Amino acid sequence: MSILPASAARFTRKGGVVVVGAGAAGLCAALSARENGADVIVLERDPVPRGTTAMSIGFIPAAQTRFQRAKGIADSPEDLASDILAKSGGETDRAMVARLCAASAATVEWLADRYGVPLDVSEKDQYPGHGKPRMHGTPQRTGAELMSALVTAAQNAGAEILTNTVVTDLFADDDGRVHGVRTAGGDIGCDALVLATCGFAGNHDLLVRYIPEIASARFYGHAGSQGDAVRWGAELGATLGDMDSYQSHGGMTVDADVPVPWAHILRGGVQVNNAGKRFSDETRNYAQRALEVLAQPGGYVWSVYDAPIDAELQTFAPYREVVQTGVVLSAESTDELCRVTGLPPALKETLREIAASAASQMPDSLGRVFARALAPPFKAVKVTGVLYHTQGGLVVDGDGRVRRKDGTLFPNLYAAGGAARGVSGPGCEGYLGGNGLLTATVLGRFAGAAAARRIYG
Ligand SMILES: Cc1cc2nc3c(=O)[nH]c(=O)nc-3n(C[C@H](O)[C@H](O)[C@H](O)COP(=O)(O)OP(=O)(O)OC[C@H]3O[C@@H](n4cnc5c(N)ncnc54)[C@H](O)[C@@H]3O)c2cc1C
Repeated sequence: MSILPASAARFTRKGGVVVVGAGAAGLCAALSARENGADVIVLERDPVPRGTTAMSIGFIPAAQTRFQRAKGIADSPEDLASDILAKSGGETDRAMVARLCAASAATVEWLADRYGVPLDVSEKDQYPGHGKPRMHGTPQRTGAELMSALVTAAQNAGAEILTNTVVTDLFADDDGRVHGVRTAGGDIGCDALVLATCGFAGNHDLLVRYIPEIASARFYGHAGSQGDAVRWGAELGATLGDMDSYQSHGGMTVDADVPVPWAHILRGGVQVNNAGKRFSDETRNYAQRALEVLAQPGGYVWSVYDAPIDAELQTFAPYREVVQTGVVLSAESTDELCRVTGLPPALKETLREIAASAASQMPDSLGRVFARALAPPFKAVKVTGVLYHTQGGLVVDGDGRVRRKDGTLFPNLYAAGGAARGVSGPGCEGYLGGNGLLTATVLGRFAGAAAARRIYG
C-alpha cells in the first residue's frame, strides 16, 4: 500500500478515468464519467461488487424529488442541509453540505429515470433528525438491490468493471499527479483517478489511531474498508478530515449475524437492559447507539416492540432475514415477555411508563414522546452494538478533488463516498441517517464528471 514513482510503472493498459472500488460511490462516478465522454475502468477487489453499499438498507436521502411530490411531501434542499448541519453541530463543510443537498433530488431522479434504479421515497421512515420523510430506497429496502441495479447500469453505460482486482499501489509524480495504479494483474495507467474504496472501519490499527472509543467493538461493515484511500492520501500529502467520525449501530442480533433495521425503533420500539429498564432516548443518537448499548451490563440489551411494528417491518427484506434466523421471540402477554427474555418484572413498569407517555403525549423521564403504547402480542430480540462505517477521510472540494495539506488541489486525484471526508463533522454525534449514501451517490457523481471533464474538457 504505497505511492511508487511514475517511472517504476510498467503499464499494460490504460483507462481515461480509473475508479478504485465498485460501491455506490465508484459506480456513480463511473456513470457520470462515461456520460462526460471518458473511457472508464472500475477496479474492484471482490469477485462480485458489493461493498458496504450492499450491506446497507440502501436509503438515499434527497429533498424535493418527484417521488416526494407524488406523495405530497413538501421538502427543500435547504431543509435537508439545515438538518445535516444541526446534527453535526455545524462543524462540517457548509458549502459541501449545500452542494450535495442541492443536487440530491437530481441525483436520485438521475439514477431512477436514466439508469432504471428502482427508487421511491419511503414516507414511513423519517429518520431521527430529518424534518421530512426523504429516504429513497428500492422495493425490498436492500443495498444489494441498489448495487445490482448500479452494476447493471455501469456495465450498460460501457464502464469496464474488473473484479478480483486489488489495487495495491499508486504511481505518482513528485507534484502528486497520478499516472496509474498497480494490481496483481499488472499496472494500469490513467488520466484521472477516483478513489472510492470506502473508509477504514475494517482496519483495527487505523481505528486504534483515530477512533479508539469504538476500536474494540465488533465491525459489521464490508471487509474492503481497509482505509486504502486515506493511506495513499496521507503518503501523497493530502489533508485528512474528521477522522474520528463514524456510524455505529445498537441493534445487532446477539445470536445471529444480522442487524435489526433501526426502523423498529423509529416506529415505536424500545431497548431495555437486563434489569428491564430503558437507559436513554433510543431515537436521540442512533449513530452513537453502539456505545450506549455496549455500556449496559453484559454489553447487550433487548429490543422490544409489538405486532403492528413487526408487520410494518416485514416490508424490509433485511428484517425478514432476521426473523428467518429464529432470534425474534414472541410473547402474548407481559408475563410471557418476561419469561421468554428472562427479564425481571421491572420490564412491566417500563411498559407502563411508555403507555403513560403515549396517553399524555408528554416526554417520558428520558425525553422521548411515544405515539402509542406498546401492546401484546410483543416481539423481543437480544442485540448488541457494532461499528458500521467511518465518516472521516480525504478532504475534497465540491467536485471531489482531493486537497493537499497546503489547501491546493491535486491535479487529477478525486475521492468520494466513505473514502472522502463526510458531512457528519467530528466524532459520532454528527451522523445523520443517510449521510453515507448521500456522499457516495451525489459526490461520486460529481467526482466522475469532474474527472472526465478535467481530461477531455
Ligand atoms: C449495515 C449497514 C447499513 C447501512 N445503511 C445505510 C443507509 O440505509 N443509508 C446510508 O446512507 N448509509 C447506510 N450505510 C452506510 C453506507 O452503506 C456507506 O456509507 C456507503 O455504502 C459507502 O459507499 P462507498 O461506495 O463509499 O463504499 P463501498 O460500498 O464499501 O464500496 C467500496 C468498494 O471498494 C472496494 N475496495 C476497497 N479497497 C480496494 C482496493 N484497494 N482495490 C480495489 N477495490 C477496493 C471494496 O471491496 C468495496 O467494494 C450503512 C452501512 C452499513 C454497514
